[in-house]
Amino acid sequence: MYQAPRGTQDILPEDEPYWRQVEKQMRRQARLANYGEIQTPTFEETGVFARGVGATTDIVEKEMYTFLDKGGDSMTLRPEATAGIVRAYLQRGMASRPQPVKLFMLLNTFRYDKPQKGRFREFHQIDFEAIGEADPSVDAELVALHWRLYAELGLRDLSLQVNSIGDHNCRPAYIALLADYFRQHLDGLCEECQRRLETNPLRLLDEKRPQCQAVLEGAPRSADHLCDACRAHFETWLSYVEAAGIPFEINSRLVRGLDYYTRSVWEVWPPVVGAQSTLGGGGRYDGLAEQLGGRPTPGVGFASGVERIILEIKDQQVDMPSPTAPDVFVVYQAEGGKLAAFRLAEELRAQGISADLSFGDRKLGKQLSAADRARARFALILGEDELASGTVTLKDLQSGGDQRRVSRHDLVSVLRQADAATQ
Ligand SMILES: [Zn+2]
Ligand SMILES: [Zn+2]
Repeated sequence: MYQAPRGTQDILPEDEPYWRQVEKQMRRQARLANYGEIQTPTFEETGVFARGVGATTDIVEKEMYTFLDKGGDSMTLRPEATAGIVRAYLQRGMASRPQPVKLFMLLNTFRYDKPQKGRFREFHQIDFEAIGEADPSVDAELVALHWRLYAELGLRDLSLQVNSIGDHNCRPAYIALLADYFRQHLDGLCEECQRRLETNPLRLLDEKRPQCQAVLEGAPRSADHLCDACRAHFETWLSYVEAAGIPFEINSRLVRGLDYYTRSVWEVWPPVVGAQSTLGGGGRYDGLAEQLGGRPTPGVGFASGVERIILEIKDQQVDMPSPTAPDVFVVYQAEGGKLAAFRLAEELRAQGISADLSFGDRKLGKQLSAADRARARFALILGEDELASGTVTLKDLQSGGDQRRVSRHDLVSVLRQADAATQ
């Protein structure tokens, strides 16, 4: 027997309400703030991510699904959304549209990561981007959208963590200062941190291992070393977030895992912070378009893992709608009944009424229990009497099994009335 590859999942119909709810809320928030949907390819030339996400990130160093295609070109299954969207922005001439270009996408993403609760090798993300505008009020709009998305899904007690990590102007000096500080405190750092210090000192601030925390607590803070332009951007951003009525916490350890971030970074944390602390995060990436060979183009966006959101919805026991169920389940008796039942189900479907029926010549009792298991609102019984008289027996499965005889002619309007009455 084959098994699904490690770290992948089969999403079954019983989880559908969660997925549907998250997707519905994503589309609703996109519409409320005028973001347009984009779809980019599942794989890109490897350079899009190697250059875009950054060669020294965990993603590029060890988590990418990279392969040579039959033409000998190196391709990579997307490990995130932003680099591909910015590639599309550049390639499709979106710089000539009114700026910012506001886009969203629901996508599958691939990272060869250690599978654990809520973390998969193929997972899904909601992604929002606003490209082509440096104004910090755009950052605030995205934070507000991100926050509202979770709030409207029913999630409570979240916290918004914010920071600024500077730009090409002030970040190099800050990173040098940080590296100096860490070199003076090598004894307090684990081997992994010591290794990272040589490639990407900023990423040490992400470190979760307890033995490194004392050194990290004393590290210089990026927000204290911003140039005037970055400081003004940070302050304006936060004043707009405040204007949106969203409480936040400045977190000097927040740097995000991807190299392309500049200035604003944020994460939203659940009330119980476990191994997977963040529900979603984002930031500004003013240097990314140039990394990908385009003209300097500011941009800002966020992503949130759908599996991670659903885990939180379940943890917080938010009410979800029931999985979809058919309006009617057609139950038939005798030889001639089956064809009539099939025809009736098709007629109802053509009228927009969802219908199901049993296959394979099951007995009437078996068919009725199938109707129950399908959680159908009504069983439509087609017995010999009904067939002869051009009627059906309508059995209401959700109100204790009340039965009544209805003529075939009136059936659709009776079902529509019942449907209207329950809404
Ligand atoms: Zn460490
Ligand atoms: Zn700066």
